[in-house]
Amino acid sequence: MTDQLLERLKVDYPDFCFRRGRKFAFRPPRTIAVGPEEPDDALLLLHEMGHAILGHRDFKTDVGRIKMERAAWEKARELCDKYGVEYDEAVVERELDTYRDWLDQKSRCPDCGLTRFQTPDGEYRCPRCISIKQLS
Ligand SMILES: [Zn+2]
Ligand SMILES: [Zn+2]
Repeated sequence: MTDQLLERLKVDYPDFCFRRGRKFAFRPPRTIAVGPEEPDDALLLLHEMGHAILGHRDFKTDVGRIKMERAAWEKARELCDKYGVEYDEAVVERELDTYRDWLDQKSRCPDCGLTRFQTPDGEYRCPRCISIKQLS
């Protein structure tokens, strides 16, 4: 079902390397892992194409990663038009939600439950626990 799309992508993006994988993923700098058949496979594939075309690399902060996900979906929307794939907002929101949940859990302070902030080097700091530590 993605085969036809895949053949067109290979022709249009000869610089990218397409490999079968267990799930859809972009592996910088140029490899796109093509996951198994599923109802949303064409859209998921175009999303990974979005990462590849935008030249995404690992981002240090998780907020940066969410931005990167959004950008890749915006790119996927353009690609959907071009390749005649339905851009399903529900799928996009579902995928973004998994990142939001992951970020939410990761950013929660294990000591007090407050949402922590991330420093530019990627470390999490809890504003409440830092000020308590400074007082004691
Ligand atoms: Zn992504
Ligand atoms: Zn805390």
